[in-house]
Amino acid sequence: MTAHSKRKPEPDHSESATGLNPGDQATPGTPGTGENVCAKCRGTGRVGNGSCEQCGGSGRVIEGIGGG
Ligand SMILES: [Zn+2]
Repeated sequence: MTAHSKRKPEPDHSESATGLNPGDQATPGTPGTGENVCAKCRGTGRVGNGSCEQCGGSGRVIEGIGGG
């Protein structure tokens, strides 16, 4: 047995290359989706004393429109 430090696969919580926020369901411009006011911060981009993590502080998220 060697004492290698294990690297367990962890979900990547960092921003992806597309720049999506946690509240985004698709990249901007995706057919069938559109900008919507973030339900968590109600468009303010802030929750409490910090920025809203759902929309990344933008106050808006990309959501699917209608029932396709
Ligand atoms: Zn928000």
